[in-house]
Amino acid sequence: MSGVVVITGASRGIGAACALLAARAGHAVAVGYVSNAAAARRVVEAIAAEGGSARAIRVDVGSAGDIKALFAAADAMGPLVGLVNNAGIVGPRARVDQIDAGRLERMLRVNVTGSFLCASEAVRRMSTRHGGKGGAIVNLSSAAAKIGAGGQYVDYAAAKGAIDSFTLGLAREVADEGIRVNAVRPGIIDTEIHASGGEPDRVAQMRDAVPMKREGSAEEVANAIAWLLSEKASYVTGAILDVTGGR
Ligand code: NAP
Repeated sequence: MSGVVVITGASRGIGAACALLAARAGHAVAVGYVSNAAAARRVVEAIAAEGGSARAIRVDVGSAGDIKALFAAADAMGPLVGLVNNAGIVGPRARVDQIDAGRLERMLRVNVTGSFLCASEAVRRMSTRHGGKGGAIVNLSSAAAKIGAGGQYVDYAAAKGAIDSFTLGLAREVADEGIRVNAVRPGIIDTEIHASGGEPDRVAQMRDAVPMKREGSAEEVANAIAWLLSEKASYVTGAILDVTGGR
């Protein structure tokens, strides 16, 4: 079933790789970005160059109003069939006793509330209970949810732990309404997120701690997400798939 797939944070990294694959699967892609309009434009152009259809839409997933506007814009592109809750942030390395209420509030608002509200909009459109034709949601968790990221960013790990529980609960809630809900838990993936947390060398530093002794690529994570979105995963819901090289 092809239609519109909304991908938050699709201007760079894992989300951008997902956008290309979703377009190749025949979907029109709503390419979410928050500040890097040029990067979002490049993704849209790359999709168009392959004959696909995409539109860049600015959305801060920390804003409930932006999320409403994102889905209204996606409605104009056609019927929604998928959502990838990909936008996410990390903070600089900090112990729990150094994390203040402001940082914690933003970490949870962007990483948890944003995914929750986007999924809510998607369910209202895709659920057979609401007259929809079904669809799929994929949430971005992290290996940090399992490891806890002590001494690094427990706030981020806890946010991703919430994403795991959210995935399990929503999957069961809408399983008989035509919607599958799954998550991927990436490990050490070569994107700009590490630099945004003040650690541009993190991938090189962590490589040896990965059983496969290498980082993953955005495309390797996107392949797992594309499979979960597709009909090939038609009996898969409530799954949390590690894409971690064994970590
Ligand atoms: P990235 O390279 O840092 O890209 C982040 C993307 O999210 C960009 O498109 C950015 O938009 C967008 N974004 C940032 N803040 C946003 C906000 N408030 N509202 C909406 N969009 C926002 O990230 P990534 O590494 O691809 O990570 C993607 C997801 O995978 C995240 O949920 C992350 O937690 C998870 N993950 C990543 C790794 C890893 O090692 N890379 C590991 C585990 C989990 P702009 O381009 O406009 O700034």
